[in-house]
Order: sequence, then structure tokens, then C-alpha cells
Amino acid sequence: MQPFPVPPDEIPVGGGWQRGGGPASACVDPADGSTVASIHAADSAQVDAAARAGAAAAADPAWRDLLPHRRARLLARVADAIEDHAEPLALLQTRNTGKTLGETRALVASAAGTFRYYAAALETLEGELPPSRGAHLTMSVHEPIGVVGAITPWNSPIASDAQKIAPALAAGNAVLLKPAEATPLVSLALARLVQDAGVPPALLSVLPGPGTVVGDAISRHPLVGKLAFTGGTTTGRVLGRVAADRIIPVTMELGGKSPTIVCEDSDVEETVAGILYGIFSSTGQSCVAGSRIFLPRRQYGEWASRLIAAATALRLGPGTDPATQVAPLATFAHRDKVAAMVDRAREEGAVVRCGGRIPDDERLSRGAYYLPTLLDGLAPDAKTCQEEIFGPVGVLLPYEDEEDLVAQANSTVYGLACGIWTADYRRALRLARRIEAGTVWINTYKQFSISTPFSGTKESGLGTDKGRTAIRSYQRQKSLYLSLADEPIPWARG
Ligand code: NAD
Repeated sequence: MQPFPVPPDEIPVGGGWQRGGGPASACVDPADGSTVASIHAADSAQVDAAARAGAAAAADPAWRDLLPHRRARLLARVADAIEDHAEPLALLQTRNTGKTLGETRALVASAAGTFRYYAAALETLEGELPPSRGAHLTMSVHEPIGVVGAITPWNSPIASDAQKIAPALAAGNAVLLKPAEATPLVSLALARLVQDAGVPPALLSVLPGPGTVVGDAISRHPLVGKLAFTGGTTTGRVLGRVAADRIIPVTMELGGKSPTIVCEDSDVEETVAGILYGIFSSTGQSCVAGSRIFLPRRQYGEWASRLIAAATALRLGPGTDPATQVAPLATFAHRDKVAAMVDRAREEGAVVRCGGRIPDDERLSRGAYYLPTLLDGLAPDAKTCQEEIFGPVGVLLPYEDEEDLVAQANSTVYGLACGIWTADYRRALRLARRIEAGTVWINTYKQFSISTPFSGTKESGLGTDKGRTAIRSYQRQKSLYLSLADEPIPWARG
């Protein structure tokens, strides 16, 4: 099958497709190192043109005054278009990110579902009539911000793009999307579908390129009135400072170092499958990866052996092979970064229980592969147990009792997700309330639905994505007072 036909090296800027004015960057298939496409980055003049055209399109009565059910119809058409092109989109994303086709198919379906969900949410959202304290009718209405800067990472592009574009358009805005430098292809394909569905083209510009250049220009553009960011905590801090200087709202979905907790009564098969999925699916390149695996000390040896045996048996291969469980990392540079972090773990005293190296299988020699890795022997405050690796690397940590477990699980700057494996639902709920995390899974892991709010606590994020109310985070609230008084305001009387 042919990948989605992206126009050769063109990006949508303010309604038209054109060559980026910045330097070219190769999009590489990490399964074999081949170049899929070369895309020129946007330059600052294109960021400015996109922002101006976006602001004009958002203010155009044809969009500004479009009734919600009609705007919803456009979003539903985008969902249909994504579904109609699901397979080529999935293949394109697999080639640009290395992910398995099973996963990219799910991400494409998720993107379509996101547009459909926000179409429905938009049609059913209501304003409020707060109780009045005087002779007037008070109304609380929600209005678009204008132009939204959406900045996304490389790990799940089409789904993370849709989670920003759909609610931002539903809210009545224009969007400047900055995909990650290495993985812009599926975002460019998505822009084509959004335009073809009938959304006024200037409402979505896709501006690829380096974050410190293009992302920075978007975040500082005076017409950009809100930043919606998904990525690392370090970048989140930079954007938070820009937003503070400009006094504009920012939502941030950031990194994590999530605990996944085995209790003594956990079901063995369910727990091993769930823990492996939590850390090794997406080759560990998941913000919610369950990378700190807590095992009860009394059963430590048994659980560790089971997990090591299962991790060692995982099948590595290209994302296009249906048998593959662990695909290559998204880029060679990232693979090398993961390898360096495992080397540092060794220096910290880690025992590599499995993996810990690039595979020596000749079949995988051209790709950015790294073996599923489990480490132990580290103190909970070791850098390896505290810093996000964003690769197929988990640390096994023993705990004594519930108090020790909660203290260890919470002793990180992050607070994104948590998994709890137990047959005792009372214990599960008790732990779930005590762990500092935006999402807690009980006897499952990495399950999502667009209707369920998603957020990180502590340094894992600010604000909430997904759910009906995400539309409101792309709007300004305004209060209207309509006088019902029969007399003028008495103060002014002579
Ligand atoms: P990153 O922070 O390096 O980059 C994310 C995006 O920000 C990219 O598009 C990048 O070009 C841009 N960027 C970088 N510097 C910028 C700047 N100064 N100004 C504006 N934009 C800038 O993250 P990454 O390496 O692409 O992605 C991995 C990270 O994303 C991990 O930390 C992961 O946990 C996180 N992530 C979080 C979630 C979540 O929902 N919480 C989801 C996916 C990924």
C-alpha cells in the first residue's frame, strides 16, 4: 500500500501550501534508516503569515458566527475523512515514527474519534444564566480566543494533534500546529484532510521545524492567545515562562515516571501482561509508561523472574510486521540517548536483569532498536529511578508495606499515571487516592478514552485535556448583564 500522498515538501501556511522557508530536515524510517521525505521547516515570516491569516479567518463572520451544529458538522466530516484514509495514514505514521501498525491504526482511529467526540460535545455544550443579584439578567458566555499555538511531540503525532486541533476548532479558533521536527508527515496529511473536509484552510497551519526556532516564534507571536503543549517538562517550563510574560493561558501535558504497583494478591497472568504492556508497548516512548515497577519484598524474586522471562521473550521487529511487539525507537538519536541512560544506570550501580543493549540480531541491524530492559539494585532516589528515560527501560523496586510503597511511589517530581495490580478493590481504591497522579489504572494500564479528562499533577502538567470541558480551555468566558430595571441607576439622580 502507498503511504498517504503528502504534497512533496509543502506545508500549509495561512490557507495555501508552500515550501518551508527554513532548513530542510529528513524524515527517517527508524526501522531501516531510509529517508521517507525531506521537509523544509517553516521560517519566522511563515509563522507570522499563518498567525495573521488564522486571526483573520477566526474573526471572519463565516466562521465566527457559524452556529455550533454547523461547525460540528465540519468536525464530523474531518472524522469521516480520517476514517476513509485510515490505513494509509497509519502506514505513513509507522514509517515516520517506527511504531507498530497495530498502534498507529489505533492512533488514527483515536484521532477520528476525537473529532467526532468534539463535534458532539460542541453541539451539546451550554452557557449559563447565573442567579442575578439585581434587576438584570446575567449571562455567562464562552468565546473563542482567536489563534491557538499547539505544540506536540513525536511519540503519537496524529492522536496528540487531534486532541488539540479538534477542541480548539470546536471552540471557534484558528490553530498553528508545530509538530515535532522529526515526525511532521502525518500532521501534514491531517491538515490536508481537515481542509478537504471544508474547514476554512487558514484555520489550520502546520509549521514544522526546530522547537527553539519555530515553536518559540509561535509561542511569542502577539496574535497567539493560548498555548497548548504536549512534550517534556523542560520545554514546558520554557513555554510556561513565555506564557507568564505574555499573560496568556497555557495547558501542558508533560513527562512522567509512573509507578506500577504489584500487590501480593495480584493475578499473575494479568499483572505480567499489564506491566509489560505498560512499559514496553510503544517501545516505552509513552508519557504514561509504567517505568517504576514496585514489587512486594516478600515476593520480589518470583515477580522479578516472571517479568524478566516475559520481557526477554518479547518480539522485536519493524512496525510493519504483524508479529512485532517492540518496534524501533523513533529516531537513532533517541535510541542512543536511551542507551546512554542505561550506561549511566550501570554507573549508579544498577544490575541489568535483561536487555541493556542494542540487539545483535542481523535482521535488526539497520534499525534504531534497543532490547527491552529491566534494571534493579538501585536506590529509589537514583537518577535512573527519578528521571524519565522514554524508552523500553523499567526499574524494579522492592517495597515493605503500604506506607513504604506510598512514600516511594510519590517520591518523584512527576505525577502523571499509576497502575495498581490487586484482587482487593478496597486496597486498590485506597492506594489510588493516595498516589499523586492524574490517572490511575486498576488491573489495567494505558487505557484511554477521549471522554475521560487527562492531566498530570506536580511537574507532569498543568490543566486538563480531553473530556467535554476541554473546549472551554480554548475559550474566554464573558459575563453579560442585561438590565431589567424600570428606573435609571439611582446614584446619578440629582
Ligand atoms: P520536547 O519537549 O523536546 O518537544 C515537544 C515539542 O516542543 C516539539 O514539537 C518540540 O520541537 C517543541 N519545542 C522544543 N523546545 C521548544 C521551545 N523552546 N519553544 C517551543 N517549542 C519547543 O518533547 P519530545 O522529546 O518531543 O517528547 C517527549 C516528551 O513528551 C516526554 O517527556 C513525554 O513524557 C512527553 N509527553 C507527554 C505527554 C502527556 O500527555 N503528558 C504525551 C506525550 C509525550
